[in-house]
Amino acid sequence: MAGAPALKHWRTTLERVEKFVSPLYFTDCNLRGRLFGESCPVAALSSFLTPERLPYQEAVLQDFSPAQVGDSFGPTWWTCWFRVELTIPEAWVGQEVHLCWQSDGEGLVWRDGEPVQGLTKEGEKTSYILTDRLGEGDPRSLTLYVEVACNGLLGAGKGSMIAAPDPEKTFQLSRAELAVFHRDVHKLLVDLELLLGIAKGLGEDNQRSFQALYTANQMVNVCDPARPETFPVAQALASKFFGQRGGESQHTIHAIGHCHIDTAWLWPFKETIRKCARSWVTAVQLMEQNPEFIFACSQAQQLEWVKSHYPGLHAQLQEFACRGQFVPVGGTWVEMDGNLPSGEAMVRQFLQGQNFFLQEFGKMCTEFWLPDTFGYSAQLPQIMRGCGIRHFLTQKLSWNLVNSFPHHTFFWEGLDGSHVLVHFPPGDSYGMQGNVDEVLKTVTNNRDKGRTNHSAFLFGFGDGGGGPTQTMLDRLTRLRDTDGLPRVQLSSPKQLFSALESDSGQLCTWVGELFLELHNGTYTTHAQIKKGNRECERILHDVELLSSLALARSTQFLYPAAQLQHLWRLLLLNQFHDVVTGSCIQLVAEDAMCHYADIRSHGNALLSTAATALCAGEPGPEGLLIVNTLPWKRTEVLALPKPGGAHSLALVTVPSMGYAPVPAPISLQPLLPQQPVFVVQEVSPSRSCRARAVLGCSNNLEILSSDLEQVARWGLGGDGGEVPTDSASRPPFTKTDGSVTLDNGIIRVRLDPTGRLTSLVLVASGREAIAEGAVGNQFVLFDDVPLYWDAWDVMDYHLETRKPVLGQAGTLAVGTEGGLRGSAWFLLQLTPNSRLSQEVVLDVGCPYVRFHTEVHWHEAHKFLKVEFPARVRCPQATYEIQFGHLQRPTHYNTSWDWARFEVWAHRWVDLSEHGFGLALLNDCKYGASVRGSVLSLSLLRAPKAPDATADVGRHEFTYALMPHKGSFQDAGVIRAAYSLNFPLLALPVPGPAPATSWSAFSVSSPAVMLETVKQAETGPESQSRALVLRLYEAHGSHVDSWLHTSLPVQEAILCDLLERRDPAGHLPLQDNRLKLTFSPFQVQSLLLVLQPPEN
Ligand SMILES: [Zn+2]
Repeated sequence: MAGAPALKHWRTTLERVEKFVSPLYFTDCNLRGRLFGESCPVAALSSFLTPERLPYQEAVLQDFSPAQVGDSFGPTWWTCWFRVELTIPEAWVGQEVHLCWQSDGEGLVWRDGEPVQGLTKEGEKTSYILTDRLGEGDPRSLTLYVEVACNGLLGAGKGSMIAAPDPEKTFQLSRAELAVFHRDVHKLLVDLELLLGIAKGLGEDNQRSFQALYTANQMVNVCDPARPETFPVAQALASKFFGQRGGESQHTIHAIGHCHIDTAWLWPFKETIRKCARSWVTAVQLMEQNPEFIFACSQAQQLEWVKSHYPGLHAQLQEFACRGQFVPVGGTWVEMDGNLPSGEAMVRQFLQGQNFFLQEFGKMCTEFWLPDTFGYSAQLPQIMRGCGIRHFLTQKLSWNLVNSFPHHTFFWEGLDGSHVLVHFPPGDSYGMQGNVDEVLKTVTNNRDKGRTNHSAFLFGFGDGGGGPTQTMLDRLTRLRDTDGLPRVQLSSPKQLFSALESDSGQLCTWVGELFLELHNGTYTTHAQIKKGNRECERILHDVELLSSLALARSTQFLYPAAQLQHLWRLLLLNQFHDVVTGSCIQLVAEDAMCHYADIRSHGNALLSTAATALCAGEPGPEGLLIVNTLPWKRTEVLALPKPGGAHSLALVTVPSMGYAPVPAPISLQPLLPQQPVFVVQEVSPSRSCRARAVLGCSNNLEILSSDLEQVARWGLGGDGGEVPTDSASRPPFTKTDGSVTLDNGIIRVRLDPTGRLTSLVLVASGREAIAEGAVGNQFVLFDDVPLYWDAWDVMDYHLETRKPVLGQAGTLAVGTEGGLRGSAWFLLQLTPNSRLSQEVVLDVGCPYVRFHTEVHWHEAHKFLKVEFPARVRCPQATYEIQFGHLQRPTHYNTSWDWARFEVWAHRWVDLSEHGFGLALLNDCKYGASVRGSVLSLSLLRAPKAPDATADVGRHEFTYALMPHKGSFQDAGVIRAAYSLNFPLLALPVPGPAPATSWSAFSVSSPAVMLETVKQAETGPESQSRALVLRLYEAHGSHVDSWLHTSLPVQEAILCDLLERRDPAGHLPLQDNRLKLTFSPFQVQSLLLVLQPPEN
């Protein structure tokens, strides 16, 4: 034990040591002031400023002008290249010499044409080691380049971090000189700071704390900063303290180097490429100098960028991956949002990611890694397991605003019952710095004390901070095994999870979603990005299906595998956790919209190509192919293009995952099976009521069966006319005020003169779906001012500011007059600046009414929703998620209930009581809630940070309402929501289209959804004539189902989500059918090897 201070005065002793290491006070005489010795300016400095992000080879050829320390440069997003010519004084032989560089912005040092280190003040990287010991004969003159990006570590927010960027920021170079670095001083500083941390962290009632303080105090006594020969004595005191070992039961902290890099956020995608280079080249340098240092790196996309822009660095990363120091983690293309992407898109994150990791680094990842994402779908455990992953790491739930999550290490049980082992680093961070307080917090904050004795500790500055520093490593290695503290080992994620798994007998299990009680505005912000996401998921689905069918049918067809991979990667990129969520700056949103535009245009071209190939050899009447990309037969009204850009409506029936010829013109269509749509408007009290029904035929008005085949023999001929207003079949009216009724014999919709829904009746049962005395389709506005995270958060208190939007009577008018389709439309002034128009559409035979909506939105901090009070009572509502659905409460009983006042869903939300329910469908929305009996869909927000223009402008979206008998499963809500999102396609083809209908696949059970049909990934064993099918059980039931195909299938084998064959997965194929057995929400993938072409 070192000598204790003479007087028992905790505070003066502690502060004495603090001042000895202070960078602010007494640097003339303290130890910190001796960190650097002699210094000298660089020999010559010149610079070149450019708005482009140029490659090195191009940049160094430009005209550089003389520059000096103190110079300003900019503006935001530009780049300033500095040429630094330097000569190390001969007198410094034997010394460690640094280039000390301080500037705003983020710098990258280039030496001999290769990037060597990042320089970022905010990431504590302000010096570059020129030599750790200058030798006698070493060259002392060299030229470096420093590429400085004109943006900070966290972008360029005007005034605050998340404010929209200031385009006019200027940046300054404040230091550029050579200096001698005293490594021995650095080591003493590290020790003294750790001792201070232990003294403070363990506190005044702890024996070990006093030992640390007195050791530090004695070190100050023996150490004379001006006399390096006194340092070893001080060092020995420290070593004695840190050499006192802990006991066997000590907690073990697995310190893993990391640098969380947001793929785009407060800076554009292109800057991220440079952030990766700056950060990883710094990590490489540390790996070289510290062979024990392990760095975990996620996101295949970022590695792919580095591979193409910095091939030398990529090769180094591969080398360090072989040594086990550079560890690719996560398995995904990017760290995607955990809520909004579809199930298939989540699978593709892993498929693209794992294949990239395998190809570039020789192995796949064994842990899923999403430290910063805003909540985690209950379907993720199954998706992980299907992609070869059993472990998951995040920490974001520590951000919960309401409830503190009860575990740090636990098993997570997904929707289907799959289990994965989850770890949240108990320090609640992914950017630790190796300080004692963080190490202690990791132990004290751990909610699984006594159940597990291992924790992760992710250290390193994220987002261009360049990751870990040597100082962090020095701290952590010093804390390896010291009495009073947890054991610290530099470790890999694999070592961590092996340790957790080997001692997991006492861990608890969490079932269902990991809901983040924060950031629930991200389900709605940037509606155009959301729409792009949903639409592009649909386009890629359709392209893959049609291309697969063309591949199976035509020997000439080349499956567009490379184009599809490119388009998928764009979609996956946009699903990054600050892009699809809308929490990014305007520049990123613009890039994201360009990615969607690419997917739309290329995707549509690929659809045409595939359609053309499908038509080859089967001459038929018209140059148009009607395609159904869903796995059941559909009869729907479709708008067919006519010459001159017009459209005509037709009722078409298209078989399951197949096509049909264009139907004959309407007069030749004798068998219209269903009741036509009636549209009736009560014009005014003084005039008689007018009702129209094109194709009306009163004989059929009582036909209410939804089984179209049975009633097909009843034709609806003629070309319509007015239906007598006294017709017995006319819906009952009591008012004559301009309201409109739409009735297709399945549902009857009544709109008041302002467009609100006063009644929605399921005709067969006469059951009313709208709550008594209430109205649906009620638009409501809320004030939407969160506490800080503007684009991210909608707070509970916004609900207190609810203001229903009142329309003007008389704005409702009949649109389409009935027959195949009936509609009414209206205008609504939402606010003085924003207006809405809506067409309410009902089609023949359709079990739901659609609301096509257009909004011109010019608001600030307002939230628009639409509400439907239902005549349904249930304590839980059901929400669609990836490959399934789950229930959430409709009440605010506990804090866990009310923390979910705004939740996410995919294509539908349902509120059902026994025997009856109401479903709310949508084609591009994700935010929703059901409170009491009110279903609410979140439509538009208007946050101002980090993008002041977010959501301002024109929007178009559709939602739909479907009342139903029985359960939503039996009533077909899931299929209806698919139909709304995957409209039948009328694809123009150059030649004649087939004359007969054709179906490629069908499934016998309505509980089983055939989600995806694609070509198998073409790996080493080429499977170019093999398809992969993905199916899932959608009802939540155990079920057997037959898959039928008309394709020439040779062999069928079960495979995992990465398309690896299950060795015991051969399925017998009889009469083109195969049997599949599902458990609730199970996802199954199937490899179908096609027969070789006939010649
Ligand atoms: Zn992030």
